[in-house]
Amino acid sequence: MAVYIGSKAKPARLTQPGDNFEVVIIGGGPAGLTAGLYAARAGLSTLLLEKTFTGGQAATANHVENYPGFDNGVGGPELAMAMERQAAKAGLVVRASGVSRMELKGDVKRITLEGGMVITAKAVILAMGARPRKTGVRGEAEFSGRGVSWCATCDGFAMKGKNAAVIGGGNTAAEDALYLSGICEHVTIVHRRAELRADRSLVRRLLENPKISILWDHVVKAFEGEEKLRAIEVENVTNHERTRLPVGGVFIAIGEDPDTSLAKDEVKMNREGYVLADEDTRTNLAGVYAAGDLREKPLRQIVTAAADGAVAATAAMQDLRFKAPEHDNEAARGVSVHSVNA
Ligand SMILES: Cc1cc2nc3c(=O)[nH]c(=O)nc-3n(C[C@H](O)[C@H](O)[C@H](O)COP(=O)(O)OP(=O)(O)OC[C@H]3O[C@@H](n4cnc5c(N)ncnc54)[C@H](O)[C@@H]3O)c2cc1C
Repeated sequence: MAVYIGSKAKPARLTQPGDNFEVVIIGGGPAGLTAGLYAARAGLSTLLLEKTFTGGQAATANHVENYPGFDNGVGGPELAMAMERQAAKAGLVVRASGVSRMELKGDVKRITLEGGMVITAKAVILAMGARPRKTGVRGEAEFSGRGVSWCATCDGFAMKGKNAAVIGGGNTAAEDALYLSGICEHVTIVHRRAELRADRSLVRRLLENPKISILWDHVVKAFEGEEKLRAIEVENVTNHERTRLPVGGVFIAIGEDPDTSLAKDEVKMNREGYVLADEDTRTNLAGVYAAGDLREKPLRQIVTAAADGAVAATAAMQDLRFKAPEHDNEAARGVSVHSVNA
């Protein structure tokens, strides 16, 4: 069913089979909602499809302290709802439905919704995000947002002066530990192997840093505390001995999975499944754009997802309004987003 939020939302009818939109956005996180805001404000007929709840990962953040404009921070759900209301006021139509199939080559993009309805679009903005991997151990869900975090950049500041742990052994874990060492009293990396997978230069910096220690050959077995996280239980993988490590915060950095499997046969991706897109969010396919956490990029945050969404909608608008009839992707790549503002 279609969901219209905001008093000036339009149009007033449900999506029908065979409907054709100028822009269809897949995913209703910060990237998708911002793309929707920009596309609707540009006067493009725009539909956003969301399979669970709008706001995406941002809606699950307890308190967001690094999104500009909120000097006291803002609740994740509150920020997500405000983004949705703002986009809906501009005329974005949000439909609560997942996409089960996409055919993205050619000028007419065919999108099959869960349930089988097929709609078409001239441009598609992929904004399906990514899922941070979970450890699956006891207490993880209970202390999520109360000491357990998947984002050092987001929640590290709240650990100022405390002891923290980072779970993982790749580049993200190493970067998180180095970042946290500037904030926390001490950082312990808990890694299941006897060597890190992170780049050598990062490993060297970790080993030289007196505020970082590494617990080799250990896995986390439980998150413990009362109101807030107080400690983690770790297990030595060789002798199975368990130890309690008192910490105020734990940052889980064991990877994430971009939600891109639906597009994998058509859109170019890297080995981990992140979509390859230019700075202007254009992908290898004309009329297909990638915004937010699902694309290869250096920083996955609400602010960068929102920025991608704005750029993607602007690029789509340019390609739809200004492109030559015999448009191909090389031509699309030659159009600069910035030229529209000039
Ligand atoms: C617990 C937590 C706390 C965080 N805290 C912060 C913070 O404080 N500050 C910060 O800047 N960042 C934070 N982040 C990161 C931030 O939330 C993400 O970087 C941001 O939400 C990415 O936005 P996105 O729109 O690219 O993707 P997402 O937020 O992942 O949204 C993607 C959406 O697409 C939908 N979708 C996927 N597949 C389909 C499909 N087939 N059909 C329809 N819909 C689909 C999903 O349901 C989802 O709603 C946090 C993340 C988490 C998990």
